[in-house]
Amino acid sequence: MNNQSKIEEMTITMGKFVSLIGKILPDDVMNKLTELRTQEDSRLATAIYSTMFENQNLARELNRPSCQDTGVIQFFLKCGENFPYIGKLEKVLTESVLYATENAPLRHNSVQTFDEYNTGKNIGKGTPSIFWEMIPDSDTLEIDAYMAGGGCTLPGKAGVLMPGMGYEGVTEFVLDIMTSYGLNACPPLLVGVGVATSVETAALLSKKALMRPIGSHNENERAAKMEQLLEDGINKIGLGPQGMSGNKSVMGVHIENSARHPSTIGVAVSTGCWSHRRGHIVFDHELNYTITSHSGVEL
Ligand code: SF4
Repeated sequence: MNNQSKIEEMTITMGKFVSLIGKILPDDVMNKLTELRTQEDSRLATAIYSTMFENQNLARELNRPSCQDTGVIQFFLKCGENFPYIGKLEKVLTESVLYATENAPLRHNSVQTFDEYNTGKNIGKGTPSIFWEMIPDSDTLEIDAYMAGGGCTLPGKAGVLMPGMGYEGVTEFVLDIMTSYGLNACPPLLVGVGVATSVETAALLSKKALMRPIGSHNENERAAKMEQLLEDGINKIGLGPQGMSGNKSVMGVHIENSARHPSTIGVAVSTGCWSHRRGHIVFDHELNYTITSHSGVEL
């Protein structure tokens, strides 16, 4: 197969993958929802979980998106510096979104700002969003594909704290959001927190935190402890599934961090919803692929 044919095949593979993640939740999310259901004792909370699982079964059976808001498509790349198709990737990923929009199908969620019209393709200026990370001495490509809905993660919030506010200030920032508009997303939530040096670095880390598998922890033990403390605190709010009250509010709290200027603490929060539609796929240098987020699926 020549290079052009390989690229066309990769475009269709990614188009099918984006379509798939809108219909089938990743294994870690399904496992966590199953676990959380067992921790609820009210009839309302368990009935809502049952409806969620039925919704997932029907999405698979009827081949339809699991939520009507299929979001803005965002790609988080870890691209090996020796991956041979680097220059083609933006076009491949953009065209894969068009494929998924037509074939999944996906809701039309790309409105050109200022001109205020919907392109009808999920493609516009800057959409889909593509975030790059280059990996030295590697020839593989890892992609986290994510559907960012109008309730989940798009209404994130970032700010810069004075250093004297410390980690208490970070905690207050996160809990203020969780007790107010964090509820834009349908609980149980996956909470991504970025702790960095500025609004833009913290904001991107808060989104990357949501690409981590549920149950994983920050490699820094202090940060991991803060993840647990925040999880315990947010659970005490008692949101329950769909915010209708219950014992648990979150699927997890993930913190990603970077070094910071001594005079600032950048902090950001992005909240994923129970229908956390993300998928992880890895391509080798010959474009053979492996899906690691969803077991037992075929494209
Ligand atoms: S928050 Fe999630 S589940 Fe709720 S409407 Fe938005 S995409 Fe759907």
